[in-house]
Amino acid sequence: MAIACAACANPNSSPSAGSGTAARSLPDMYSAIRALAGQFPAVASLDTLGYAGSPAHPAGDSSLPLLALELRAEGSRDATRPIAELMGAMHGDEQIGSEVALRLAQDICAAFEADDGSAAAALLSSVDLTVVPVANPWGYQADLRENCENVDLNRNFDWAWRYGEADTLKGSAPLSEPESAAFAKDAQAKLYDLAVTLHTGSFIVSLPWDYIATSSTQYNYNDTEYVNLYSPAQALFQAQGSAYAKRVGAVEGAGAFACSQGGDWYVVCGSYADWLYGTLGCPGYTVELAPYKDWTSQPAALGAQVIGAHEAALIGLLSSAVLGARGRVGDASGAAVSGAKVSATPVGSAAKGLPPPVPYTTFAYTGAGGYCFIALPAGEWELEASQGQLDSSPALAGVGSSGPSASVQLSL
Ligand SMILES: [Zn+2]
Repeated sequence: MAIACAACANPNSSPSAGSGTAARSLPDMYSAIRALAGQFPAVASLDTLGYAGSPAHPAGDSSLPLLALELRAEGSRDATRPIAELMGAMHGDEQIGSEVALRLAQDICAAFEADDGSAAAALLSSVDLTVVPVANPWGYQADLRENCENVDLNRNFDWAWRYGEADTLKGSAPLSEPESAAFAKDAQAKLYDLAVTLHTGSFIVSLPWDYIATSSTQYNYNDTEYVNLYSPAQALFQAQGSAYAKRVGAVEGAGAFACSQGGDWYVVCGSYADWLYGTLGCPGYTVELAPYKDWTSQPAALGAQVIGAHEAALIGLLSSAVLGARGRVGDASGAAVSGAKVSATPVGSAAKGLPPPVPYTTFAYTGAGGYCFIALPAGEWELEASQGQLDSSPALAGVGSSGPSASVQLSL
């Protein structure tokens, strides 16, 4: 999230001793994650992406694994499907995100096994999913926003990182922390096509980008690489964000929940969402689940209400990973090429209405099987693959506004 967690303005505030829904302890949360994998062995498996640091073991403490639930319809990764990530509690004191991520994983697995015809049951038929309920275990346990090194993980990623500035919350270097380094490594290996990070402290879904340099922001350090970034896929992000807000509004009341481009809300440097989109072409959505972050001070019914309000919206957003174009890149003999960059440029109707300068491109990298997915709004797009000195011929993709992605074959 954007630091956004406006409520996180006082990151060291201690939880009040309310009588409401207490956050699970970290051991209880770990147990629940492991139990879920055990309960649905056909569809869920457990992975350890790395280890969070502790004061005794800052580079990684074996008692603080970064647990991920890998949810796959057939148990293993299907490269023809897009893959999405859902992450909770990157800010350790925003434990509601862990609870929502865990319960959503539980409901998706149960619906899939029951084949009950619901959107939750259908999700895994079209999207593979990685769920990381607790991204900052040390902070979760200590009820603190930062990790044990007092670094805000959502300022530590290598995108618009605040070089030259004194702020220590960003860390000593991009990806200096074992948690952020583990998530970056995982994302580069899996090449997520969509990611959602769950935060609390506000009531909003924010879209790429979190960092927008303008003359009015204090973080404009003349790094023109990041100035006035714009994605030609913005219309898709806006549509998905608006759909999310509408779904939450259906539970919480129309207009209760907002949608904004991240940097328009407030500018964040070094966020995970921006790193994902800027580096890998994976759109990252930041969801602020509730205007409060203190789970323990709330009535128990509010916990159920938060989960109820966001569950349909999250399933809808995760399902949207199929929207856009699917590319497959092969070599001259047709064999799959992984690691190729596929760029999409709007042409025709897709190019209309975009602010200058045009053309813009957005991109994705191919993974196993030579497949990639590029999140794109409806319209005509020109796709082109490149790797090293090799380029493909451009190919046109007509992207619809719903349903599975357009498919394009590219040869290097
Ligand atoms: Zn947060």
